[in-house]
Amino acid sequence: MNAFELAALLFPDVTMTVEEAEALYPARILPEGAKVTRVAPSPTGFVHFGTLFPAFVSERLAHQSGGTFYLRIEDTDSLRYVPGAEQDLIDTLSYYGIQFDEGPNATGESGIYGPYWQSQRKNLYHVFAKKLVQEGLAYPYFPTDEELSALRQTNKKEENKNKDWAAQAQAAKDAQAARRTAWIDTAEAAVSSGRPFVLYIRADGDGEKKVFFTDLVKGKVEFPENDEDFVLLKSDGIPTYHFAHAVDDHLMRTTVVVRGEEWLPSLPKHLQLFRYLGFKPPKYLHIAQLMRMDGTSKKKLSKRDKGAALSDYKAMGYPQLSVIEYVFTLLNSNFEEWRRSNPDKPWEAFPFSIKKMSISGALFDFDKLNDVSKNVISRMTEKQVYDGVLAWAKVYDPDFAALLAAQPDIAAAAFSIGRGGNKPRKDLTTWADAKEYMGFFFDPLYEVPPAYPDTFSQTDIKAALDAFAAVYDPADDQQIWFDKVKAIAASLGFAPDMKAYKATPDQFKGHIGDVSMFLRVAVTGKMNAPDLFAVMQILGKEQTLTRIQKTIDTLLS
Ligand code: GLU
Repeated sequence: MNAFELAALLFPDVTMTVEEAEALYPARILPEGAKVTRVAPSPTGFVHFGTLFPAFVSERLAHQSGGTFYLRIEDTDSLRYVPGAEQDLIDTLSYYGIQFDEGPNATGESGIYGPYWQSQRKNLYHVFAKKLVQEGLAYPYFPTDEELSALRQTNKKEENKNKDWAAQAQAAKDAQAARRTAWIDTAEAAVSSGRPFVLYIRADGDGEKKVFFTDLVKGKVEFPENDEDFVLLKSDGIPTYHFAHAVDDHLMRTTVVVRGEEWLPSLPKHLQLFRYLGFKPPKYLHIAQLMRMDGTSKKKLSKRDKGAALSDYKAMGYPQLSVIEYVFTLLNSNFEEWRRSNPDKPWEAFPFSIKKMSISGALFDFDKLNDVSKNVISRMTEKQVYDGVLAWAKVYDPDFAALLAAQPDIAAAAFSIGRGGNKPRKDLTTWADAKEYMGFFFDPLYEVPPAYPDTFSQTDIKAALDAFAAVYDPADDQQIWFDKVKAIAASLGFAPDMKAYKATPDQFKGHIGDVSMFLRVAVTGKMNAPDLFAVMQILGKEQTLTRIQKTIDTLLS
């Protein structure tokens, strides 16, 4: 049987030619230099935080160059497939600002390079598989049931330690040589009895020789040529990642493949496959695994680690923008500097550059994320903060949401404290911080003050509160208000300024900060709160004085 006859035997249903398949996917008409990129996730139901890295890199490369960015669902592994995971993925990515030009969406799919689900492209893979068989570049192998289970056994054995590598390599070579010709006498009978086959590539590489390649981030990389006959189609006719990658990225006209570094060692296989198929390989950009510190050593941010599941960030109350800007901070070393010089620009205006990416990859760190998030929130308007907190609270703290919704003006005013200007305050790291920060504005969350530190006499506290209640006038400006507090401090034997206190602390009961604290605790119920003058302005005279009076009453009781 010659190669043509074998191809016809293996793929009796394939009538489309390679040329016809190519014609279905014409070259894209795009401006010079425009890049075509994609995200190609497997819908396993878990969206790792690290997914955002290749996604943003691909998105930026395409959209900054006037190109196309599409989504392809790699659902060839039916065992790992979770129904509905695609939509969850699309929603999650879109929540973080990643919008596709083509691919699956809520109503089906858009774009002419589909289907965008690999499970629906089986016929296309078979067209190219048939061609490889015709050209003698791929061959079938018909495993018996025993062989299949033996194969599983071997896999198990491979996990054992004390392997004899040389013997194993020789055994693999021998097995490969035997497999290459095993079909010659058996193919016809096997096909007619309905036995499935695995399709292997006939590798022409020499493991002693090197293949060189330039990765867009890592630069020049070298690997041994591929001499391993690897699987193209599994026994159910479904392609392996390698084969689907070559066929899809070629037909869908991807120009830059951005993917995880774990695929880098497979590159010789992919380049071999592109060569066999007569395809021009795309450019590759491999992104290093996201690491985290574990004591003094680095570890992969694995599925079980805090921060690994992208969905958790929503629950933790990080604004989308905080997550986006954190990712850019890790992706491009000059992002923070750019952000400082361009506080008002949208993140899309940042000139993302491959040259500013680190070869060794990024280190995940909540402290840094929190720092970025504080800055992001500090640049927002009070309305944006109010909307963000409200949306979060509706899902995660409905009682708090009800309070925010009932008094939007108070809430927005509370969020306006210290906002704007050159040095906005950085009081909130996440939306979840809002309740602790300003919940006391709402009566149900205002607790009649906790105990004052017992280093102060209750008589002094009460005297300060009484004195303040007698002189408080909401029409006072901040300076007059503060002068009044100072005068009260002085009249009770507290230093009216810190300098005087530091010079001779023994001569005072305390200082102006302590007297302010007496008032703050009375009005907010907290030792730490936003600017007290502003708080009183927002609460209004009646509420301020009522709270002070309530505190006086508790002090007396
Ligand atoms: N489905 C592959 C993965 O999730 C895609 C890799 C690629 O982008 O080519 O790792």
